[in-house]
Amino acid sequence: MRRIAIVGSGQAGTLAAVGLMNAGYEVTLYSDRTADAIMNEGPPTGTAFLFGDTIAAERRLGVETFEDRALPADAIHLNFSPKVGQELVEVSSPIDQGKGYAVDVRLMSSTRMAQLESGGANVVIESVTPERLDEIASENDLTLVATGKGTLASMFERDATRSVYDGPKRYLAMAIVKNVATDGTGFPNRVPGHTPVGFNFYGDIGEFFWVPFYHKTQGKCWNLVIEAKEASPLDTYRKVKSADEMVEKIRAIIKQYAAWDWETLKDIEPVDDDPHCWLRGGVAPTVRRPVAHTESKRAVWSLGDTSFAFDPIGGQGGGCGARQAAYYVDAIVDRGDGPLDETFMEETYEGFYEQHGGRAYNFNNVLLEPLDAIGKLVLISAFGDKGVASRFFEGFNRPDDLYPMIKDKAAARQWVAEASGGSWRAANLKGLAKIIKGQLRLKTKGRHFTYDDSV
Ligand SMILES: Cc1cc2nc3c(=O)[nH]c(=O)nc-3n(C[C@H](O)[C@H](O)[C@H](O)COP(=O)(O)OP(=O)(O)OC[C@H]3O[C@@H](n4cnc5c(N)ncnc54)[C@H](O)[C@@H]3O)c2cc1C
Repeated sequence: MRRIAIVGSGQAGTLAAVGLMNAGYEVTLYSDRTADAIMNEGPPTGTAFLFGDTIAAERRLGVETFEDRALPADAIHLNFSPKVGQELVEVSSPIDQGKGYAVDVRLMSSTRMAQLESGGANVVIESVTPERLDEIASENDLTLVATGKGTLASMFERDATRSVYDGPKRYLAMAIVKNVATDGTGFPNRVPGHTPVGFNFYGDIGEFFWVPFYHKTQGKCWNLVIEAKEASPLDTYRKVKSADEMVEKIRAIIKQYAAWDWETLKDIEPVDDDPHCWLRGGVAPTVRRPVAHTESKRAVWSLGDTSFAFDPIGGQGGGCGARQAAYYVDAIVDRGDGPLDETFMEETYEGFYEQHGGRAYNFNNVLLEPLDAIGKLVLISAFGDKGVASRFFEGFNRPDDLYPMIKDKAAARQWVAEASGGSWRAANLKGLAKIIKGQLRLKTKGRHFTYDDSV
């Protein structure tokens, strides 16, 4: 039986490990923390909202998907303001294929570690060093490194051609909170009758979004993420040291910059019994080379955040890692008795980059940049036409549907026309008319985002 080692017990590593175990490989998972420590001694890596296709991939590999308990988001709602005080566009749509949910990655990891042990795989608790990685690679037919953005990731060279940035573009805050309705009534002004992921984009200061969440002990609740542009008025939490302090900072931001959500979110508190229910920091969006070599020149293969690090803005990082795990498991199985060598690793990675990884990465980065002409066309048309809004939001699940239009104006016009079932001009004009109406309302009533005609 072929032996495969996976180093790293996050959602990408554990998913690949279970998939390979179920496919009949002798699997060893190395984790620097026990399942109990993952659950109780640190924060989750991120929110990790997963869209529909990712959850389908997880289900196919045979892991617990939590769909009987999680709190699904069945809609997306976006407020866009070029700058504070200039509320311009609100777009929303139910999502169908993309419908998904976020489950605490600590719960995912610990559940899968137990599944691996009961299914006959080896789970070794050890913080793997580069020297140990060399030994592990010598003992296995294939070694995957899924240790996230830190530690062993630096063995994999940054791909300077594909990595767009050399540092974080936003300073992030995340908190998991209670006291927000989880029965679909929480955001009545946003998408009535639905549980939306709620995005707020400000061109000048940054973004924030509210995500329905399944916490390891609290169960259904909400996960709030702030993305501050450097030195903007959102950039207030770099020194925060506790969950209470972080939630207070986020409350203040909501009150000032998302007044439309204040009624829903004014009573937020950290979830119970979890001092680690928050995060702050930044992610440098990075693509790394897929293969690194250990001291004795053995090739090892990167997976998850070790391969691709995403800013959370488009909710793509966890999904990309999970789909990469599924793609790699399929490729390994398809390889049969063929060599699992460096050529196989490079070719498989390129296939994944073309099919999903590169597209997800580049789409996500577009969201970090000021709106270009194509972005304006799509956003305004989505404001004017529900078909365009629906297709755009489904693109978070399938970023490949956003290509080539994301980089090609003629293709973007065609994409808008197809989505609206009419001409791109008509969809765009409808959006512009709504913008003018909204600007008049802003002048007369002091608020445009009222959501009375959202869905
Ligand atoms: C604020 C925020 C919000 C986010 N929101 C979303 C979202 O909505 N949707 C989405 O898809 N993605 C999102 N992401 C990204 C997502 O959370 C990550 O991409 C994903 O969780 C990474 O999983 P991973 O398994 O690759 O790495 P990790 O979760 O970092 O796991 C790595 C594991 O390896 C272990 N390890 C590390 N070093 C060693 C070692 N030397 N030896 C043994 N074990 C080791 C660690 O203990 C850890 O368990 C978000 C990220 C952030 C920061």
